[in-house]
Amino acid sequence: MPRFNKLLVANRGEIACRVLRTARDMGYQTVAVFSEADRAAPFVALADEAVCIGAAPPAQSYLNVAAILEAARKTGADALHPGYGFLSENAEFARSCAEAGIVFVGPPADAIFAMGDKARAKQRMREAGVPTVPGFWGEASLEQLAVEAERVGYPLLVKATAGGGGRGIRVAENAAQLPQALHSARAEAQSAFGDGTLMLERFITRGRHVEIQVFADQHGNAVYLAERDCTAQRRRQKVIEEAPSPIVTPALREQMGRAAVTAALAVGYQGAGTVELIVDQKLDYYFLEMNTRLQVEHPVTELITGLDLVRLQLLVAEGQALPFAQDDVKLSGHAIEARLYAEDPYAGFAPQTGSILRFPVERALTQPAIRIDSGIEAGSQVTPYYDAMVAKVIAHGATRDEAARRLCRALLDCPLYGLRTNTAFLIDLLRSPEFVRGELYTSLLDEWVAEKHPLLQAKLPDDEAWLLAAAVVSGAGLTTLRSGSVSSFELSLSCQGVTQRLQISRDGQLLHAQLGSNNLSLTLLSVREHTLRYQYEGIQRSVDYLRHGAQVQLALHGHVFVFEEPSALQTERTLVDPRLVVAPLAGSLISVRVAVGDQVKQGDVLAVIEAMKMETRIMARIDATVSSIVHSAGEQVEAGEQLMQLRDTEPT
Ligand code: ADP
Ligand code: ADP
Ligand code: MG
Repeated sequence: MPRFNKLLVANRGEIACRVLRTARDMGYQTVAVFSEADRAAPFVALADEAVCIGAAPPAQSYLNVAAILEAARKTGADALHPGYGFLSENAEFARSCAEAGIVFVGPPADAIFAMGDKARAKQRMREAGVPTVPGFWGEASLEQLAVEAERVGYPLLVKATAGGGGRGIRVAENAAQLPQALHSARAEAQSAFGDGTLMLERFITRGRHVEIQVFADQHGNAVYLAERDCTAQRRRQKVIEEAPSPIVTPALREQMGRAAVTAALAVGYQGAGTVELIVDQKLDYYFLEMNTRLQVEHPVTELITGLDLVRLQLLVAEGQALPFAQDDVKLSGHAIEARLYAEDPYAGFAPQTGSILRFPVERALTQPAIRIDSGIEAGSQVTPYYDAMVAKVIAHGATRDEAARRLCRALLDCPLYGLRTNTAFLIDLLRSPEFVRGELYTSLLDEWVAEKHPLLQAKLPDDEAWLLAAAVVSGAGLTTLRSGSVSSFELSLSCQGVTQRLQISRDGQLLHAQLGSNNLSLTLLSVREHTLRYQYEGIQRSVDYLRHGAQVQLALHGHVFVFEEPSALQTERTLVDPRLVVAPLAGSLISVRVAVGDQVKQGDVLAVIEAMKMETRIMARIDATVSSIVHSAGEQVEAGEQLMQLRDTEPT
């Protein structure tokens, strides 16, 4: 008798997509819950049913217990998967689900309670014989804490006992820094977790973050599924994770694995959990915390074990016994995951918000060893309300080197247009000597930030990139130029605050440009939508690009460079009056998508021009009404020629 039939996923983004896929695959009915900011998010459409649970801020939606339980009641969902973050480690919530007759896909509330508080968890671990980092926890005044800090020893970490996601943690290098560390950790913890309780912990210098995935069922069986190494962190948040760890030997794996299983059994654990350890330079390990949920980086474990952890979570929640024993767990190869964030690594990793214009994953996914867990698609909005992680790109390989190479290639193959991301930084990190040698420690990336490491300095487009941008801007005129006519013109382009004046001359496929004192030339070999193939300095290459309004965006070496043409005649004309719709390039008008009198919204496609086998969509730049149409489909048009006229829509 199945215990449940319909699973509600109380989360969003990539993890909601991830859980919904397996749930569907196992035949369950599925329900998504979403905030007003996520109405159009891909995870909503993936579920059989979806319910809006409130406004964008998490407190009103993804943390809104009453609204989530009401959505379950309304849809008849009899099980709930909490994902990670949000309510996943909230013992009260797990209890409320049970009381409402909903199976909570996670450990029993008591196990969450025992492990949810870092101080309480450390206490339990010590009792179970698992080594913990020396530290202090308990009620204490500021003066007492200063005394305890001396006993613990500097440098130390001040941690929020309720903390998660790297928040509520501060380093104190010495006694002088302690008051400030306590103050700011408490303030952050209070606002993030509603609980300012702090603890002290010796800082393990040059330590590595190694964590053990454990799984337990309701019948007393528990296994460990090897380790993950998540040492590549920035501000105590994981950036790149891999399995197995480059520093863990089979003997150490077994030792840590057994300790983790002991830890889980000690609290009556069930389901998926992760025991996080910090490993010092002598390879001694210490318990940090247990995450009583599915982990962001679970895919690397899936790739080396061949298991589907969400499937196992659902089986265990159904009351089934784990379908294998410890000895059956076999590891194969190496897997590495990169967290793709909408952030600008070259501006202090500032989170970015806005629309995703294009995120082509197909090419990367033609490689069987690549997996992309994404929560976004073209048209998705990244809002300021939630975590900036938009996708995870994961590679498997026979060896660590192979996995890393494949991951770089996959990252290069799926440029994200529309927002700044950490893609280039991830690639640079994967290729850094430190990563390649496996010589990382948890504070390395923060040191790089502090010393303004070259990896963190913004890259500007090179000559080739300027030339390519010029080619795309003027590219469509090629048909007319094929007849042997040569054209010369001046083009101004700007990118990342730099404006360049290019003296261009075109002869068929050949493009010459004078850029400063450099004479450059490039041969265009083919132009398809989004792909331009060319030859530069004797080498043929392809570049992925996007035309967006007056912009040309080029994906090069993991960067997406955005070029704009500030002074071109046609853009100048259209910039002046958005009601005047002109052809941005010469070509044949293959479709006119509107009729006189139609009301259009900003971003609607008005017409499509084809030139050089490339389609350019002409979009409305304002909400308006079509008042006249100058050309119809099938006609040839010149660059700058008027296509239609819009007028402001009269208010009704
Ligand atoms: P992992 O160890 O799986 O990487 P993290 O601790 O980094 O998990 O957290 C995973 C996600 O959940 C992140 O998006 C983080 O911001 C969020 N998160 C973690 N703990 C909390 C919490 N207590 N409250 C809100 N969000 C959290
Ligand atoms: P969170 O709940 O925010 O994940 P953790 O206790 O897991 O908090 O700490 C976050 C990260 O900070 C860890 O992954 C680890 O890299 C680093 N860290 C935590 N404690 C220590 C320590 N005692 N010494 C060195 N690094 C630590
Ligand atoms: Mg942690």
